[in-house]
Amino acid sequence: MKGKTITAKKLNELINEIPDNWNDSIVTAGSLTPPATATIKDADGKEQAIVTIDKSPGEAGEFIVTCECQEDDCYHSRVLWKLLIETHRKLEEEKKTEAKPAAKPKKKTPEEKDFERGSGEPVATLSEADKDNPNLSVWKELTRPPARALKQIRGGRLSGMSDINPQWRLKMMTQQFGPIGIGWYYEMLERWTEKGSPLPTVKPLDLGEFMCFVSINLYVKVDGEWSKPIFGLGGSKLFEKEKDHFYNNDEGYKMALTDALSVAMKELGMAADIYMGLWDGSKYKTDY
Ligand SMILES: [Zn+2]
Repeated sequence: MKGKTITAKKLNELINEIPDNWNDSIVTAGSLTPPATATIKDADGKEQAIVTIDKSPGEAGEFIVTCECQEDDCYHSRVLWKLLIETHRKLEEEKKTEAKPAAKPKKKTPEEKDFERGSGEPVATLSEADKDNPNLSVWKELTRPPARALKQIRGGRLSGMSDINPQWRLKMMTQQFGPIGIGWYYEMLERWTEKGSPLPTVKPLDLGEFMCFVSINLYVKVDGEWSKPIFGLGGSKLFEKEKDHFYNNDEGYKMALTDALSVAMKELGMAADIYMGLWDGSKYKTDY
């Protein structure tokens, strides 16, 4: 059987017209570098032929193609050439990925350092499915305050819990929605005071503490559309008993407002890891 001498350039032109399912025509394949040989089915899949492609002993870039079919327009040789090209390409790609030097470790941002603090490894608090859930896109941005936004509460009823820096909340809202007044805002609905239960030790004032409350509606803009109001209720004390005296807290309403905002923002996922008890600034408590 006499082979035909064909240039690589010509073979490359010929495989431009090869059908997408050319792979299905391969019955068996031997060596995939010249001299390469394979048994290839006809384009219609009825007959098959053995085809070989070898390097020409003469010119570089020339190949000797031999096929049982002896046809000028041999489909078998085109499929084999395509197979050789694809195999070669894959091998080159593999070489490239292997040769690539290991990526230099990226310098960590303070947030990432915070994230890893304690555990040594970043631990995702969202499951893989949650990470891809578009409904959690805001939540997942807000859920984890960095350690530097947290303060351990010492003493009192909340001892051991984490206090979240209110300024961090404002920054996160701005980061997520834009400046206040443009991407998000809130309205105060009501503010009122309530008398706390009388303190048995108080003399001569038979007066308990005085609590103040604020309710707000928070609004956020997502994809150009304003949300419905997100309600928040917060409280603090205006008149508070300290060790042996009463203290007039002129920041009471302000603290109640901050509290109300934190309650509304919490519903967007703000610092959710803290509220869910998953993160206290030093370590993840649970991995779910
Ligand atoms: Zn052929």
